[in-house]
Amino acid sequence: QPILSMNSVEVLYDNVMLAIKGVSVQVPKGEMIALLGSNGAGKSTTLKAISGLLKAERGRVSRGEIKFEGTDITDMLAQNRVAQGICHVIEGRRVFEHLTPEENLTAAAPSGMSRSALNVEKEKIYNYFPRLAERRNSLSGYLSGGEQQMLAIGRALVTQPKLLMLDEPSLGLAPFLVAEIFGILQKINKEDGMSVLLVEQNALAALEIVSEGYLIENGRVVMNGTAEALKANS
Ligand code: ADP
Ligand code: ADP
Repeated sequence: QPILSMNSVEVLYDNVMLAIKGVSVQVPKGEMIALLGSNGAGKSTTLKAISGLLKAERGRVSRGEIKFEGTDITDMLAQNRVAQGICHVIEGRRVFEHLTPEENLTAAAPSGMSRSALNVEKEKIYNYFPRLAERRNSLSGYLSGGEQQMLAIGRALVTQPKLLMLDEPSLGLAPFLVAEIFGILQKINKEDGMSVLLVEQNALAALEIVSEGYLIENGRVVMNGTAEALKANS
């Protein structure tokens, strides 16, 4: 049974704009899956339908269903989905710039998490991202773009998600940093068994780390296959 199963989902913005037109995506437990496609294809909308962040943008699922660990979450509140283990790193590496990474991670902790559990998670995150560990007490606004992206991912990891969704984490980063971040994602996936759904325009980089991909064009899945099959096709 897949950890996430999205079946024939349509999303309407403002009750008129049909942004995705029957998208079906499965994430097998413990796998890394990529959503690929050009700008405006519907990739971010697909992630927002899963995390529940559509509502803030006047969007809604108008058809189809989304199941997480077998439970229908199509109409669940976003904060309850976080509690279920779904975390969405939105595009644009959003962190609190006037806080340090240390404070950013603390602020991202679920309410009720004990100080000792939080410290364990922080150390795990700093182990995965040594660059972030070095800057843990600097103001986040002064971190490089790559370090801010690492912090944005760290803020998601503090919630100990079962499904980590990332929207264009490579955007605007030098290729060596993209390789570094993708390598760390792969390590987290292997060591913690975390399932990952990755949205990327950079298909070649993404297909190096995922097992399977979906190509989305104009609101529809136009291709789905193993990374090898998709690479051969691109
Ligand atoms: P991608 O992530 O693949 O670039 P998006 O999911 O952001 O694509 O966008 C899919 C389509 O939905 C585009 O035509 C975009 O203009 C439209 N869209 C995205 N967000 C909104 C919104 N909040 N309101 C109206 N239209 C939107
Ligand atoms: P903040 O500025 O509080 O860090 P954002 O503006 O980045 O938050 O995100 C808007 C809201 O969406 C936040 O309150 C965040 O907790 C919430 N949210 C709901 N569901 C999710 C999710 N699956 N992943 C990440 N944030 C989520």
